[in-house]
Amino acid sequence: MNNEKMAKLLFPNIDKTPDYYENLYPERNLPEGAKVTRLGPSPTGFIHLGNLFGAICDERLAHLSGGVFYLRIEDTDNKREVPGAVEVVINTLRYFGVEFDEGALKDGEKGDYGPYRQRERAEIYQTFAKDLVLRGLAYPCFCTEEELTAMREKQTELKENFGYYGKWAVHRNITFEEAEKNINEGKSFVLRFRAPEPSGKTFTIEDAIRGKLTMPQNEQDVVLLKSDGIPTYHFAHVIDDHLMKTTHVVRGEEWLATLPIHVQLFEAMGWRAPIYCHTAQLMKIDNGVKRKLSKRKDPELSLDYYKSEGYLPGAVWEYMMTVLNSNYEEWRKENPEANVREFEFTTKKMGISGSLFDIDKLNDVSKNYLATLDADTVYNYICEWAKECDEEYYKLLCEDEEFSKGMIAIGRGGEKPRKDISCWKQSKDFYSFFFDTLFKMEEDYPENVCEEDRKIILEKYLETYDHADDQSTWFGKIRAIGEELGYAPQPKLYKKNPELYKGHVGDVSCVIRVAITGRTNSPDIWCIQQVLGEKRTIERIKNAIK
Ligand code: GLU
Repeated sequence: MNNEKMAKLLFPNIDKTPDYYENLYPERNLPEGAKVTRLGPSPTGFIHLGNLFGAICDERLAHLSGGVFYLRIEDTDNKREVPGAVEVVINTLRYFGVEFDEGALKDGEKGDYGPYRQRERAEIYQTFAKDLVLRGLAYPCFCTEEELTAMREKQTELKENFGYYGKWAVHRNITFEEAEKNINEGKSFVLRFRAPEPSGKTFTIEDAIRGKLTMPQNEQDVVLLKSDGIPTYHFAHVIDDHLMKTTHVVRGEEWLATLPIHVQLFEAMGWRAPIYCHTAQLMKIDNGVKRKLSKRKDPELSLDYYKSEGYLPGAVWEYMMTVLNSNYEEWRKENPEANVREFEFTTKKMGISGSLFDIDKLNDVSKNYLATLDADTVYNYICEWAKECDEEYYKLLCEDEEFSKGMIAIGRGGEKPRKDISCWKQSKDFYSFFFDTLFKMEEDYPENVCEEDRKIILEKYLETYDHADDQSTWFGKIRAIGEELGYAPQPKLYKKNPELYKGHVGDVSCVIRVAITGRTNSPDIWCIQQVLGEKRTIERIKNAIK
């Protein structure tokens, strides 16, 4: 009787019952074994690698099983909301090839289990909260911030556990009359869960990534609804994931500590808890020390970074899969041509202690990935990226499409394709020497060729240059120029008798390489010259002689 009065007092405007919502959201009609997963970002406008990590895991679990992956906006924390944030989440993940089947959209939403923005679900949470009050499992707490701080100080003094529990739960047995009086006096309250009396008991649960976990039961009378009637994460998670029929909750390991609360709440509601998948934090090695990625220190934490550097989403996926599943690389070796989505992703192969995010490894994976693409594809990708991120480069690339494609085609295809670039931004540095406006002498001529020899080499090269020469004729001429000046025609001859020569043919061709590219390292010079064309090649040599 008292519970009923209390429930009415606390929720005068709630007239629906849990049954109403249970009927509104029936079981999903999905094939057996289909998984329902969700991403629940807060709308802060910042979407990071950890989100992508979780999203790929969610997306794979759902789509490999014929299930559903949906987007729920966890906006119960009003302070953090940034306008346009939902769009950022959707667009960024789409860019990385992760699509939601249902949930929040930029404007509105799609699906039968909404609303998918938590602030729009206040009435739902309150209906279930009211039911808990009716069942004696929740009560109002009128403690002020000051009172809670004083309690904490007292607990410190007495060396007791912090929090609101057992004998410290001052409003646990509040009467209807007291509550009514407080409310009439305009005092605000939060709604707390009535946890079982502290007993020191433990419980076990099977985590899909971590296996069997044994944890102490929750003893805290946690807050379910804040004073504005908006739920805490704990309560919202339980209600939403039940009503939206989530089967697998993929979330960061930072939620492990509060898992006992969630398990207890599911029990109190009489619902089956979803399967939890607590992922390991993304870590990096910084000066030999493993640490969490930080928003302030690590630009690579932000997903925008990959977009603006021009990493190909497919390459990022490829790398993420190696971090997500320990057997992925092996699978890739056996299935070099297969689509990444054919891989049988499983939570069982996920790490449990700090997943290492290594940007050097990403660059390697990405280089390998980009090396498999043909020149036309790469050209289109670079243009797409440059159009948005580098206007100067974009113009240069479009000026002469055939030229640009020729430049990109060098070293591509064949048994051993070149692996020079890991992202499109890098491609500008790599290809810059092809464009006269970007060409500059970046490196010095080889030291062991004296200035006089260098001049002679370049002059002779110019004299004998015939753009129609095939690669071996061309190289034969360089060899001859070198030999005349005392450079061994083969490196191995020089190595055998270094005292006999000034250097070898590699030094001679390096002089030409620097003159043509401004660098000591580049793809094959003959190929470069073929793309540059006769006029430009001769011009470069002439400029170098000046
Ligand atoms: N809004 C929560 C967060 O990003 C989501 C956690 C979850 O997936 O349950 O911190």
